[in-house]
Amino acid sequence: MQGKKIVVLGTGGTIAGTLSGPAGGYVAAQKAVAALLAGLPLPAAVELVSEQVAQVDSKDMDLAVWQALLRRCRHWLAQPEVQGLVITHGTDTLEETAYLLQAVLAPAKPVVLTCAMRPADAIDADGPQNLLDALTVAAEPGAHGVVVVCAGHIHSAFDVQKVHTWQLDAFSSGEAGDLGQVVQGGVVLTRNWPQSTVKYAADAIEKIVSLAAWPRVEIVLSHAAVSEATVDALVSPEVAARFGAPPVRGLVVAATGNGTLHRVLEAALQRAAAQGVRVVRATRCAQGRVWPQPGDAWPDSQGLSPVKARLALTLELL
Ligand code: ASP
Repeated sequence: MQGKKIVVLGTGGTIAGTLSGPAGGYVAAQKAVAALLAGLPLPAAVELVSEQVAQVDSKDMDLAVWQALLRRCRHWLAQPEVQGLVITHGTDTLEETAYLLQAVLAPAKPVVLTCAMRPADAIDADGPQNLLDALTVAAEPGAHGVVVVCAGHIHSAFDVQKVHTWQLDAFSSGEAGDLGQVVQGGVVLTRNWPQSTVKYAADAIEKIVSLAAWPRVEIVLSHAAVSEATVDALVSPEVAARFGAPPVRGLVVAATGNGTLHRVLEAALQRAAAQGVRVVRATRCAQGRVWPQPGDAWPDSQGLSPVKARLALTLELL
């Protein structure tokens, strides 16, 4: 880690949470990112800059925070002396933020998101080690792309998913497997760093970070005894207007198995598509992906989970 400038951006989460919140219990997003770094045993030669971009429980992640984070990442990544970025984040929507940053920025430097399952003042807090591991990954020569570091594992933004409600090793990359691990302060890589082609020029990114609203894309689930009324209500201009919401422009359907849909839902989606709503199929299965078949009515999500497919379609509709 010697002689490198790494920028640490704080956004909140349990890693910055405490057990002694105002109501006497656990609350996320209480400690400043500078305080999280204060006690870490870092080599003196590492130059760290920290910035508090937001202070949120990531279950409440919203467009304004995402836009602020995209702006700060873009700013710091453009500084030649910066080797990489670390972002402290809650676990709940970590995979969405990771995917968004990779899809929009396709960074040639490492952007490492990290988190914790236990609050900062817990006796056995996991945040400090995760943060130290994330700094190690950000300082790794040749590292690039957006990755998540948690419980010693390095995951690609494309594959990572939160899979456990309380275990410290709460993330998995499923069948793809993790990218590697941080072992005794060093990176052991087993797959290549995430790579995607740069899709957005500077002015397109400026639009993404400035728009007051992104196209509205919702997720629906195919399940037994599904109601056709759900999709009809979602895409109804009258319902949207009643809530002052923009009309739905896209729907991601979390399908059963290999992309199959309840016939009732299929019919409702056909009606939505006839209104100009874009439909994409992901699977509700934790493993595998939807394999396209000739004559499929709806495109598949290219292996993306429903929440990431929602972001991909949102960006496409921008
Ligand atoms: N609700 C928290 C968050 O996502 C959970 C966590 O960080 O583990 O911010």
